[in-house]
Amino acid sequence: MKFLRILIVLLLLSTRQPAISPVIAQSEPPRLPVYIVQPGDSLNLIALKFNVSAEDIVAVNGLPDPNILQVNTQLVIPGITGAEGILSFEPLKLGETPVQIARRSNLLLNSLYKLNRITSPSEFFLGANIILVNQESEGQERHLYKLQPNESLLDAAIKNNQSLWQMTFENQYNYPWQVIPNEKVVVINKNAEAASEETVSIENLPLKQGKTSSIIIRDVVTNPSATLDNMPIDFYDLEGYSVAIFGVNALKETGLYPFHIEYTDSAQNKINVDQLILIQSGFYPKDPPLSVDPTTLEAESSQKEEEIVTQIISQHSTTKLWDGVFQWPTDDPCIKSAFGNRRSYNGGPYDHYHAGLDLGVCLNLNIYAAADGIVVFAGPLEVRGNATIIDHGFGVFSGYWHQSKILVEVGQKVTAHQLIGEIGTTGRSTGPHLHWEMIANGVSVNPIDWIETSFP
Ligand SMILES: [Zn+2]
Repeated sequence: MKFLRILIVLLLLSTRQPAISPVIAQSEPPRLPVYIVQPGDSLNLIALKFNVSAEDIVAVNGLPDPNILQVNTQLVIPGITGAEGILSFEPLKLGETPVQIARRSNLLLNSLYKLNRITSPSEFFLGANIILVNQESEGQERHLYKLQPNESLLDAAIKNNQSLWQMTFENQYNYPWQVIPNEKVVVINKNAEAASEETVSIENLPLKQGKTSSIIIRDVVTNPSATLDNMPIDFYDLEGYSVAIFGVNALKETGLYPFHIEYTDSAQNKINVDQLILIQSGFYPKDPPLSVDPTTLEAESSQKEEEIVTQIISQHSTTKLWDGVFQWPTDDPCIKSAFGNRRSYNGGPYDHYHAGLDLGVCLNLNIYAAADGIVVFAGPLEVRGNATIIDHGFGVFSGYWHQSKILVEVGQKVTAHQLIGEIGTTGRSTGPHLHWEMIANGVSVNPIDWIETSFP
């Protein structure tokens, strides 16, 4: 009898062993958290996602050939423990705390910390991908419900057709009276519906040097404002929503920065969120060192030119004048120099960057408006040469430098692909080309993103 009991224990233990060889996805749930290889995954990409070495993944899973990674293969990720199930990633939502993530993903807080190998709540920042484990949900959906002022967990339970004890258990309280006023609690919805969209979203996370991002508040709000590392981000009304479009300076040091947003929502709640946000590298290469007339670098006149441009872009249309993606401003977009390249002048440090995109003369000299807007500057400048600046609204501008001919006037309305000038080599330029610049919220950003993405 005793022998039999030991045998049963041994059998039970043996089924708890982690799978060390890759297996194809089965209906039976795995014991350790596993990652299922997705189309487009590579071993290096998976290693990067989980911040482990590719060699360790190969070793732990006994992969025969690391170059062949079949879709749907289950991989044990070394060092990732804390819960059973299928590993997934999800971006951190604005204002979300570790407790809220744990609640809505049905994980113990301790498991969430273990899965992410994190020890402090401050390590959950905007732009971070949170590692989660999807457990069997049995057709249930978990929603976050915000407690109203003076609402108890019992009130919320009745309102949401839940038992008080289920609410207490699912929200990882020991007692129902531990609830803090206005807290967000999880509600199990048995008739699973699609989860409603977040009220506030930040697009294109994580932020990257020289890239454009936007903030959308899906509510009729008053006095919305935001700052990124104390730089103000301006909001505009768009079809009942509040929208901000902003750029990250291409020279901004990578790392975590304070992000703040506040507004009063349609229910007159004052919303205030402070969170750290990640800025990643744009991976811009270094141009060969450049030699220019030293007087043009520090000249008072080029300083004055910066002030002129800053003054022009400080006033702008609060109406969105463009629609959809931007168009190439030349007929044949042959790129001579990309945006963001690091530049060193006269042997100095690489502390300058290319703030626009240089397009050479390939088919003809035509320069077109990249999108609908209003001309706010058209004239000669010392460094930029014959320059045109178009206001597209919402703090978005396009600039066209070094032209031989300007064909528009200040105040003129232009439409996308309208002829506005001719390519030249006026100003600080070494040969005929169009320097095309895009500015969002006062920051020069990569113009190509505006051709590929319809902002906001
Ligand atoms: Zn240029």
